[in-house]
Amino acid sequence: MKPPHSLAEPTLYAERMNSSQVQKTRGRVETPMNLEWPDLAAAQQPPWPDLVELEESVAKLRQMPPLVFAGECDQLTDRLAAAGRGEAFVLTGGDCAETFEANTADSIRARLQTVLQMSVILTYGASLPVVKMGRLAGQYFKPRSKTIEMRDGIEMTSYLGDAVNALEFEAGARRPDPQRLLRAYHASGSALNLVRAFTMGGFADLRQVHAWNQDFVRDSLAGQRYELMARDIDKALSFMHACGADPDEFQRVEFYAAHEALSMDYERALTRIDSRTGNAYDVSGHFLWIGERTRQLDGAHIHFASTISNPIGMKVGPTASPEDIVEAARILNPNNIPGRLSLITRMGADLVRDKLPDIVAKVDASGIPVVWVCDPMHGNTRESANGYKTRLFDDVITEVEGYFAVHREAGTFPGGIHIELTGDDVTECVGGTAGVAEGDLSQRYETACDPRLNREQSLELAFLVADMLSKR
Ligand code: PEP
Ligand code: MN
Repeated sequence: MKPPHSLAEPTLYAERMNSSQVQKTRGRVETPMNLEWPDLAAAQQPPWPDLVELEESVAKLRQMPPLVFAGECDQLTDRLAAAGRGEAFVLTGGDCAETFEANTADSIRARLQTVLQMSVILTYGASLPVVKMGRLAGQYFKPRSKTIEMRDGIEMTSYLGDAVNALEFEAGARRPDPQRLLRAYHASGSALNLVRAFTMGGFADLRQVHAWNQDFVRDSLAGQRYELMARDIDKALSFMHACGADPDEFQRVEFYAAHEALSMDYERALTRIDSRTGNAYDVSGHFLWIGERTRQLDGAHIHFASTISNPIGMKVGPTASPEDIVEAARILNPNNIPGRLSLITRMGADLVRDKLPDIVAKVDASGIPVVWVCDPMHGNTRESANGYKTRLFDDVITEVEGYFAVHREAGTFPGGIHIELTGDDVTECVGGTAGVAEGDLSQRYETACDPRLNREQSLELAFLVADMLSKR
């Protein structure tokens, strides 16, 4: 017997190859039954030098088992719908660019711990359930503003994520290698396996709130504040336990994997038809988002996202026209499904109060339900005097404050935050009580792409956001 959410084997959809029929299912999305997509312009695709090699990798990916299940994606859509109604809050956190090298148990655990700690702070501080997602198990592709990187007069293809090439500035390393698509798939599978074990196997049990606060972070200001809160939570749990209550929800957490759907070859190869409903799901991750550089209304990314039933996100930057965003929302959520579409706004601290109101007003007037999420990282990237790509903690906070203020004014719900962070004690963003100064950036600047909040800065941010959320 097939499990309830089994996904069609490649042979099954191969049988459907001849059908050009478009099926309308469950009032959800228009799914091309043949799993073929029109040849639309796709921005930011890797310049693969060898298309035969590419086709070999893609053919292998088409045979791979799914990393996530349709039913899990549907459940996430329902959770996101609650955030859209103001009954939950989304927390997405993780690397700008995951790397194969950092795909270790320690690194994954540290990132998970950070998100769990932030989530407890938010839940406790604002009395709201938190929908937890990681930029994890698939965040291996990077769009770049420059396709070529120049150093000392030498030009090379930019680093495009570990799924495409390597960071090292060397010709062989920078050559896009389709074998890396398979490595990215396998690395994502191992990461997700570990995350499932951690979140289901006792590590995420609420009685572990203290244990997540170990090592360097415990002595920091944010860590100490966390410890006090954890004591209160412990007390409440002991009280409930003494009363005979020990709900399942305290022992396990739902944790979802999210990444940017950037490479059309990778995402299409991992799209399957759910045998239960006939809908297509991109089984490379639960939540896929369209980046700021690939949200062209007539482009391949928006069209692809419109054909899959996963919950979808779209980044919205300060140059977006409100009319275009409404049109994109119409294409991505034609049946007005709550939780289907998150608009992840990343305006920058200086522009959020100017640019966001009009977009919120026009989308709201359209009646299309969306979850409003704030990414306070990508509009706030700058170069430090000593030449590092960095972000100021204060800019991050200022943008989140602006985002809350705009939604309060508009009467819409601030549904969540989307953060680049790591579980380690890095020095990539300036500021916070950790007191990272520009001069410290060189100490532990480890990111493969954008600067991330370290563990302490992440906890501090969570306390500040919990405060804003409780006063919303
Ligand atoms: C990112 O999330 O890492 C990213 C590149 O964001 P954006 O598309 O908003 O610039
Ligand atoms: Mn980034």
